[in-house]
Amino acid sequence: METFVTIERALAIARETPVRFTTEKVSLNKAHNRILAQDLQSKVDDPPFDNSAMDGWAVNSKGTTPRDTTGYSTVRAGDHDPEWLTEDDAACPIMTGAPIPPGADAIVMKEDGVNGKAHTNFIRKRGENFLEGDTLLETGQLMTPSAISLAATMGYETILVRSKPKIAVISTGDELIAPGNGLEYGQIYESNSYGLCALLEKIGCIAIHHSVVEDSIEGLRNTLNSLDCDAILTSGGVSMGEFDYVRKLMEEEGDLHFWKVAMRPGGPPLFGTWDGTPLFGLPGNPVSSHLVFTMIVAPWLAPEVPLAKEVRVRMKDPVKGAPGKVCLRRIQISPEGDELVATTHTHQGSGNIHSLVAHNGVTYLPPDTGANAGDIITALWFH
Ligand code: AMP
Ligand code: MG
Repeated sequence: METFVTIERALAIARETPVRFTTEKVSLNKAHNRILAQDLQSKVDDPPFDNSAMDGWAVNSKGTTPRDTTGYSTVRAGDHDPEWLTEDDAACPIMTGAPIPPGADAIVMKEDGVNGKAHTNFIRKRGENFLEGDTLLETGQLMTPSAISLAATMGYETILVRSKPKIAVISTGDELIAPGNGLEYGQIYESNSYGLCALLEKIGCIAIHHSVVEDSIEGLRNTLNSLDCDAILTSGGVSMGEFDYVRKLMEEEGDLHFWKVAMRPGGPPLFGTWDGTPLFGLPGNPVSSHLVFTMIVAPWLAPEVPLAKEVRVRMKDPVKGAPGKVCLRRIQISPEGDELVATTHTHQGSGNIHSLVAHNGVTYLPPDTGANAGDIITALWFH
């Protein structure tokens, strides 16, 4: 077990215990945001035949003008056997996407009139985009809308994708009450599980939302033992407190791989396995749990779906660093001129979830390093 590791080391340790994926076939209509689990070779040349890139006339570039369209009906997209161009001055009306009549090697654009310039490059040549057998999508590819269209162009109707991992989400804490109920003095609304479930959905996992578990070793042990999932996310109960039972239980009965990461907010997360199932223990403070998810859990579970992009920003407000830890202050990033600038707007406490909504990124300040207004620093811009 390692303690107080860097963010990079935490991720490396977690990656030694990956979630085991199965695969399933899905139709392209169900493939959005799924992760491809096979290499796809094109079943066809693209385009499969020479065709016109423009509406106009198919002609021979070495032919004569004025041109004559007599006897030719328009070649339409989908036509199978366009007529031969036999005469030197022949011009056959043609639609975009229609096959090129034999004998033609150029297109005159409709806009230029039938005697206009003949363009050989307005013919899209068979296979100019890719060839049958080319591998264009590989295992691990995120199926974006354009990747889905490419798979269809290649002739695939169904594809093999990774099954979505099932991740249990469990909040712990005696003070936590599900929203919708009344609060008594000392209680707060439980919020982390809702955000964590949404984050899991965003990166293509199935979130199993459990009700709050009270701060007791037995309650927690019973809940963990009852789970049927591929990985477990808990929130709360991982710091030094007397009732931080997730940490205690994992120390005593689980298999702990790391505890504490050099980041602020988000210091006390842990990772290990419970009866063989990977378990991330996230801190209870709402900003901390979201940021540990973004920085470590998401890149572990779904590196294909990054939640943040590293950028350089010029700070307009000063921000404090953190002793010995990477400091993730919430910032609002926006373009200004030819650079990105960043401002801060809310209280930065790790309990203030509003700070993550009021801003669109965080600083990535190295340990013991703050920034003054005007400094250019590394930041993470959330998607
Ligand atoms: P803990 O990590 O359990 O010590 O909790 C740290 C802080 O986060 C405490 O103020 C908790 O009340 C709060 N907290 C813990 N879990 C949640 C949760 N699921 N939703 C909202 N706040 C929480
Ligand atoms: Mg707690």
